[in-house]
Amino acid sequence: MSPSLLIKDVRIFDGENEIPNGSVLVENGLIKYVSPGSLEATDESTIVLSKPGYTLIPGIIDGHVHTHLDKENTGLAQSLKFGVTTACDMHQEAEDVAAVREEAARNPDISDFKTSSSAATVLGGWPAAVVTAFDTSEETLAKVATWPNLQTLDDVEAYIQDRIKDKADYIKLMHEDGSSLSVKPTVPPLELQKAIVDAAHRHGFVAVAHSLSLQGTLDILRAGVDGLTHTFCDKPPTKELIDAYLANNAHCNPTLATIGSLTTEGKKEQEAYAHDPRVEKLLSAHGKAALCECMAFSSDSARVEYAYQSVREMRAAGIDIILGSDSAGPARGTGFGITAHHELALLVKKCGFTPKEALRSATSLVAKRLRFHDRGRIAEGLRADLVLVEGNPLEDIDHTLDLRGVWKQGILCSTYKDLVA
Ligand SMILES: [Zn+2]
Repeated sequence: MSPSLLIKDVRIFDGENEIPNGSVLVENGLIKYVSPGSLEATDESTIVLSKPGYTLIPGIIDGHVHTHLDKENTGLAQSLKFGVTTACDMHQEAEDVAAVREEAARNPDISDFKTSSSAATVLGGWPAAVVTAFDTSEETLAKVATWPNLQTLDDVEAYIQDRIKDKADYIKLMHEDGSSLSVKPTVPPLELQKAIVDAAHRHGFVAVAHSLSLQGTLDILRAGVDGLTHTFCDKPPTKELIDAYLANNAHCNPTLATIGSLTTEGKKEQEAYAHDPRVEKLLSAHGKAALCECMAFSSDSARVEYAYQSVREMRAAGIDIILGSDSAGPARGTGFGITAHHELALLVKKCGFTPKEALRSATSLVAKRLRFHDRGRIAEGLRADLVLVEGNPLEDIDHTLDLRGVWKQGILCSTYKDLVA
């Protein structure tokens, strides 16, 4: 059992509200007590950190990544260093899911892992069309061949049963028509998509969907999904779009940084992050190089400004915007963990969010929308997934990168071990 931890004399953003000066007591991996003012430890063995001028926030929940099984768990390890205590995978090989989940539960130096397991893919659809357009290695083709291929309504129940076996945390649909892209994937029929959503709901799952086009988003919302894992960038938003979101009470995880890499309009910002000393020291040489490149496979009409505009209008209409980066090993222009901070900055700088709203989108709101009841806020009884930064990110969102401590279930990530030395 690890000793208790008392963090005091800090500003606290608890996922919803701010305590200008408060204390948090952690015991056995859980938050035992949160209070305004400066608490005293009652037990000698308690580690006490008094950090005036610092801010404690809930661990960031990145609502959209693709992390694959590898020896070093590269994606989840880097995520945690950047304060992402939970990473939500949105499609991968079903056969790898159990091993990644076990490793995440065992290893205090990698993020916790949630997953859709394999999305409801079809032959020639998303993401096979894009993956095989850029990589035709035998290994990749073999991997793609293991993905589901739903063809008729009769395949739906078996697909959902497989996800129940995988202990999937939510169901992910793919609805990509290619309007924003230079590749044109096969789009599953709406009748099939509707059956998948209905079956997901029948079994108690949240159903979220990928689409990068306005029409695709409208269609898949009409199929009943609870949220989108992207906004779109082929056209400006319409009133019809806002109404479709509102009709489902659906959320949007816009992935603005990824869309900037797709159209290449985000390249300068990506480079600025890659060369920021706070970021550079947490990236591998390969990770730094990848962050400076762009996906660059958008259609001629695609504009990142349409994506920003859609988020501004959704925010004004009261639609829940949740943070997810879409970081993935092969996804150029993204980096595990760092792209979550890039996304926070874009919500504030391009979409009119206050820093507090952006931080809420990255913590309590992701937990609420994806139904993780044990995390996302600094509240008694929840997991002690915590991030300590120097400065006040509620004033300047850039301070989320002034990372000084990251705890997953009350255990300090070893990158920050000097904090308690
Ligand atoms: Zn994705």
